[in-house]
Amino acid sequence: MNGVRAANRERVVDLLRAEGPMTQADLARASGLSPATVSSIAQELREDGWLADGDGRRAAIALSRRAGVAVGIDFGHSHVRVAIADLAHAVLAEEGTALDVDHAAADGIAVARDLVVRLLDEVGMPRERVTGVGMGLPGPLRRDSGEVGDSAILPGWIGARPELLMGEALGLPVRVENDANLGGLAEIVWGAGGGCSELVYVKASTGVGAGLVLGGRLYRGHAGTAGELGHMTIDSDGPVCRCGNRGCLETFAGAEAILEPLRRRHGPELTLRRAIALAHDGDIGCRRVIADAGAALGLAVAGVCNLLAPQRVVVGGELAGAGELVLEPLRRTVRRSAIGATRHTDVVAGVLGERAEVLGAVALVLRESRRYVAEPR
Ligand SMILES: [Zn+2]
Repeated sequence: MNGVRAANRERVVDLLRAEGPMTQADLARASGLSPATVSSIAQELREDGWLADGDGRRAAIALSRRAGVAVGIDFGHSHVRVAIADLAHAVLAEEGTALDVDHAAADGIAVARDLVVRLLDEVGMPRERVTGVGMGLPGPLRRDSGEVGDSAILPGWIGARPELLMGEALGLPVRVENDANLGGLAEIVWGAGGGCSELVYVKASTGVGAGLVLGGRLYRGHAGTAGELGHMTIDSDGPVCRCGNRGCLETFAGAEAILEPLRRRHGPELTLRRAIALAHDGDIGCRRVIADAGAALGLAVAGVCNLLAPQRVVVGGELAGAGELVLEPLRRTVRRSAIGATRHTDVVAGVLGERAEVLGAVALVLRESRRYVAEPR
């Protein structure tokens, strides 16, 4: 196959991987190739067994399982979750298991490897059909060395190089990404961000972070540290943050900021999940604190909207479980503080909940990696 033809074929396959089932007309529009070229590439892919008919709704075509599958792994403080999807975006298997809270990295890796191997077996996919493995970790990762930095969430992983360890354990290429970036990709592929190429995903949980998708791709910034929404200054005279600055968003909207004033009434064991449940049940104090957190998030989001003018802002993480209790004050602040059309930026809750990270790890492979199981002929 000549170079141009191979490049065109790769373009079509990349689009189908990233977007899922598409009509040939949409493929032509999105790739800039002529309908005749798309049609002949589709014919060739079909002959290779790489195409399956899509869901049938619009005569869409999709990549078949012969073209491969994508694997996602998500590590948390006390769990690991694995998902496998085909390149047409159908999730074939998904399962999680508990880990010791202070597990060592090597133990976590071994559990994840066994889970991946078992699930691949269950869906009848040999390892050679895996086009990539995405992996989520809740800790800071040093971009230069690939080491886990100082992590309170995964103390057993400090200094470990997860990409390398997992890659060796599986014998497959692995890419690690942070949880907010993964949440953003997952909501685009399977959730509340469908059809968005400019999306801001806000993860509001223990901490606050953002995943930025610009031009359809993750924006990571110069050293990979873009999206530190939680450390935007909301009040320069505010409380001191764990980062050392004063008045960061996290000191107003992080879990500790929400729980601290509520503990006087609800006791020291109060969790964010419980506070949200109490708020839904009508507890006035919980509602008030969550609304205040929403307004603080709104200030930061308004700044981001002014700067980036996203199509949509998706709020995920545990706090998103508060629904309109947090979203309404957030939107109100954006309407007040953003300018022009960005005032009316769509702000919605994520729909994937605790599946967001593992599905995002799969989406990372689908949208941001270019490895194929077989050489085009
Ligand atoms: Zn801070």
